[in-house]
Amino acid sequence: MTPLVIAHRGASGYLPEHTLAAKALGHEMGADFLEQDVVASRDDELVVLHDIYLDRVTDVVERFPARARDDGRYYVRDFDLDELRSLNVWERMNADGSAVYPGRYPAKSGEFRINTFAEELEFIKDLNAHSGRQVGIYPEIKRPAWHREEGVDITPTFLRMILDAGYESPDDAVYIQCFDFVELRRLKVEFDCPFKLVQLIGENSWREAKTDFDFVRTAAGIAELAETVDAVGPWIPYLYELVDDSPRPGDLIERAHAAGLEVHPFTFRADELPPGFSSFEELVRFFIVDVGIDGLFTDFPDRVVQLRLP
Ligand code: CA
Repeated sequence: MTPLVIAHRGASGYLPEHTLAAKALGHEMGADFLEQDVVASRDDELVVLHDIYLDRVTDVVERFPARARDDGRYYVRDFDLDELRSLNVWERMNADGSAVYPGRYPAKSGEFRINTFAEELEFIKDLNAHSGRQVGIYPEIKRPAWHREEGVDITPTFLRMILDAGYESPDDAVYIQCFDFVELRRLKVEFDCPFKLVQLIGENSWREAKTDFDFVRTAAGIAELAETVDAVGPWIPYLYELVDDSPRPGDLIERAHAAGLEVHPFTFRADELPPGFSSFEELVRFFIVDVGIDGLFTDFPDRVVQLRLP
């Protein structure tokens, strides 16, 4: 099967992540889906940013130096939409201001803005209408439990915006992703969400959610997931092992497929290869041909589209 190409934060290997420019480029490069990460502002607007923090992808430190919390971080939740819109979005930085991926868009450069979730949905609708290519959306609810502690329940607004954008059925090109299983369960049971749901699977040490990712990957965990979600989005290392330095598919994909779940691993980066692979082409081919994935998140959608089997 031809795996779905999900442009991870847009074509983020080429332009600053989650900018509309990065989404337009991913659309043009032939991605099947464009990814959104959604967090809430102080005035409860949903904006498209990967982190609950602003300091690694904007000029917030220069613009609002006094607005950090005690931990030194600048939280999206502490800024109104108007303030967020006034920030420049930059290529992702480390804490010391250096580029996370040095070969990408120049650090601290360019004129890019934060956009709202509603604006991005509208933008994609326009791109689809203009190009005649129907590219889907793949939005993620970021840290829902943390947002509730901060006084905002983002899930109902998030779902309303997708419905308002004209998506309505499980056949529409929408996958909703979350690390938090409780929230996915809530979407299905409490909100009667009509869209396909994806359980992201990471390391417990990332503290993305209270979900126990070690359990989730077991046979019992996968069986439980399959009652709620349509797909899993595992971190790449969970899908293979190295035998004598040579990659071999692990058993998670078989377990997931047996339970009827699609498998969409993250994140395929040409400038950050996982252990055991010497080129991006080798990595992508192994996952498509040997592992048998159904989709993948990539910062380089053009290169995966070129490699994909017909
Ligand atoms: Ca994401």
